[in-house]
Parts: sequence; C-alpha cells; structure tokens
Amino acid sequence: MELDTVTDAVEARREELTALARDIWEHPQTAFEETYAADRLIGVLAERGFDVEVGVGDVETAFVARYGEDGPVVGTMGEFDALPGLSQRASATKEPIEAGGNGHGCGHNLFGVGSLGAALAVADAIDAGLEGSVVYVGTPAEEAGAGKVYMARAGAFDDVDAVVSWHPGWYNAPTKGSCLAVDGFEVTVNGESSHAAASPEAGRSALDGLQLLNTAVEYMREHVPDPVRLHYVITEGGDAANVVPPEATGEYLVRAPSRDLVDDVSAWFRRAAEGAALMGDVDVEVTKISGIYGVRPNETLGDAIRETMGDLGPFSVDDPLADDLRESLGDVSGQLEELDPDHRDRARDSAYFTEPIDALDAGEVGSYSTDSGDVSQIVPLGRMTTATWPVGTPPHSWQAVAASGSTGTEGMLYASKAIGGTLLRLLTDEELRAEVVAEFEERGGADGYESAMPDDADPYELLGVERPDFEPTLEADPAAAGAADDD
Ligand SMILES: [Zn+2]
Repeated sequence: MELDTVTDAVEARREELTALARDIWEHPQTAFEETYAADRLIGVLAERGFDVEVGVGDVETAFVARYGEDGPVVGTMGEFDALPGLSQRASATKEPIEAGGNGHGCGHNLFGVGSLGAALAVADAIDAGLEGSVVYVGTPAEEAGAGKVYMARAGAFDDVDAVVSWHPGWYNAPTKGSCLAVDGFEVTVNGESSHAAASPEAGRSALDGLQLLNTAVEYMREHVPDPVRLHYVITEGGDAANVVPPEATGEYLVRAPSRDLVDDVSAWFRRAAEGAALMGDVDVEVTKISGIYGVRPNETLGDAIRETMGDLGPFSVDDPLADDLRESLGDVSGQLEELDPDHRDRARDSAYFTEPIDALDAGEVGSYSTDSGDVSQIVPLGRMTTATWPVGTPPHSWQAVAASGSTGTEGMLYASKAIGGTLLRLLTDEELRAEVVAEFEERGGADGYESAMPDDADPYELLGVERPDFEPTLEADPAAAGAADDD
C-alpha cells in the first residue's frame, strides 16, 4: 500500500478537518476543561466506527479510540487544550477576541485534528485490506496538569506497538532529541501569627520557613550535577508587614535529564524542607504536584518520519495573512540560528518554510519538559514538527494563536499525511517495526517504568480545576455536539 492512500484520504477530508480545527480554535478551553474539543474529536471517531473509551485514567476528557482487529497496533496522540490569557483574532495585529480570554497559542487545535486526519486515513487503509489496528489517544491537559501521565499509568499505551505524534511549529522535521524529566512540588508552611512589633516572640513566621528553604535551594544549586535545574516562586507570603505570616506557600521545580537524577535531587529537596521547618520552628508540608519523565528518543522512527516527509515534499501556503503575520514578527534571525546556512537563507525570505529538513536536535537534551516523556517510556514514540506557523513564530505568542486559526491548517494537513504515511509504513513493514522495537529495548524498554506521580494523586485537585461533567454526544455534527448554543 502506497503513501497515496494516505494523502488521498487526507485530501478527501480537507474541508472537514480544516473546519474542525477552526471550530476548536473558536472554543478554546484550558487544561482538564476541554470538553468541547474532546466531544468534537470523539464524535468524528465514533461515527467513523472507532471504538472509543472515554475517561481513561479517571480524567474525564481523556480518551482512547481504536479501529481494526488483530495484527500490529500503531497509534497517534492528539492534544487539544488552550492557554489562558492568549485570546487573539486571526489577524496580523495583536487584538484579542475577548480580553484575558483563552487562546490556542500552542496550536493544539491543529494538533488534535492533524492527528485525527492521520488516524482516519489509516482506518481507510485498514478497510482497504491493510492488516492491523490504529489507535487515536486523546490526551488532555498538556499545558498544565500533565494529562498523559495519568493515561500512561492507567495502561492507555500498553498494547500499542509504536506511536507517532507531532507538534505545530514553523518547519518540517522529525524531533530526535530528548528533554528534561521534572518533579513539581507545592510547599505549604504553617506558623503562628502575632503582631510583628508588639509581640514578635509569640509568632512563628511561615514566610521565614519558606525563605529558609529557598536559601537551602540556592546552596543546593552549587552542588547538583550541571544539567539539573531548580526553580521556585513564592505564591503566598503573607498579607501585611506588621503581621507575622501564619501561612505561606511556594512552588518548586526540579529538572534533570534522567528520572533517577530528579529523584535524587527531589529527595534532597525534601530533606531541606524538613531542615527549614526545624530552623523556623514551623510546620512544612511538601506535596508533589507533578512528576514526569524526559522523552526517550527513537531515532529509527525519526528516520522513518524523515523519509515520509521527503516523499511528501514541501507544500505552499498562499494567503496574504501569512506574509503579514511573518512581517509582524520582525527580526527572527535568532530563531533561524538552528537551521543550516542554506536553509536559513531560504527560510529568511519566505513567510512559510516548508521543505522537509533533518532533525535539528538529534542527540541533544532540550531544556523543556513534556508529558509525552511518560509515553516514550512505555512505547516507542516518534515525534515531528510541521510548519503550521510563519517562519520564526514562537509558541505561546499572539501570532501563533492567529496562525493556528487561519494559515496553519495547511501544515496541519501535512502532519496528517506525515503521521498517516509513517503509521502505514509501520503496519506494512515488519522489519521497520522490529528495528523500532529493538532501539526502544536497547534504550531501556518499558519494564522499568513506574509513574513518578503518587497513586492517589487527583489531577483536578492538584491543578485546582473542577472536574467537568462530561458526557460525549458521539456525534460528528457540530450542531448535535452543542456548538450552536455556544455562539
Ligand atoms: Zn504545545
């Protein structure tokens, strides 16, 4: 079966997928509250005959949709959460739709639908005689809350042979690098309030406890291995200077390339918190609010993605808005630094840079963290970026929101084809599958995976979000899905 099978299937749904991405863009919801997007995506999958399990890992908007029987199982992931405060029109000037409202600044409206296009295309190929199954894993709360961690530990990826995923960006390339594992902690300190001038001896300052812990963290920085990163903020430090603060809270992150190193430094951090409690004569409570793994790369899958992109070739975006958005970014030479000089010259002169290129991060550990890390510990994970945004567009910018609701859909359809094509290759090429699995095993396999989150962690409670009442309509039609009420 050829790549054409996939590209034709995606092109046949061009309008449907484009409209769906725009619709989700128009209904931006943040972590764990993304009922609109989840409903739309589930609706399309259910109507196409996918078996859908909703509420995976006890997360209401998390779902796994499966098509096909027997044979190898390949999968893709779809994110769909938005960001707070990034509301923006699909225009080339900064202009919110709703001041302070949510917006798709990371292009996750494209992310969810691009992966959907791939899953639907592979389902078509299965109908046409291809042996195997395809799984679409709907993964909420990437921007905050680490939804995939709860899905991973609930077994959502256990019977999948390989997953191919992507992220919006401004070039077309596989992602071959790793990134940092991270632990997040909330620290609550309880002391004793009193008048700061009249009776300081009667008080015990919760803020002092926090400051002592922060001082410890500063000293720790000198003696942790080089790539470890420690950051903190005080989220509550008291209300008035003449009152000894009875309660104070802070948030802390520990990052390192390996899970083991994060565990070690986190254990030291907990001991430091005990020390701060002793020194300040206060109670210190440490709650773990996040714990994720770094990404384990799979270069074999990266190469397969690169080959598929090479077969697809570049694409074009013909929309004056693309040029205007590109111009609004001003000088992007900093972002272009990562390209080789030839590509840099061509990218500099165009609104969109769409020729497929080799991975820019092979062998590197990126200074970021993603909940895809946990997925990559359980199943071979291939990742890629496609050019949904004008050259040099930073994620979480208003330009990224504008492009995600307009000129970005061409790059999204490209992602559908690149993912779909790579999944098709995995299903038809037993040797490739074996190589992908061999690399995964060589890098440690799945057996050592143990979620870094405590068993009783409640994602809603940890993020301070109310659990939504979510009952999917299972309808692909927007009116039936409730869109009409929202406008
Ligand atoms: Zn993102």
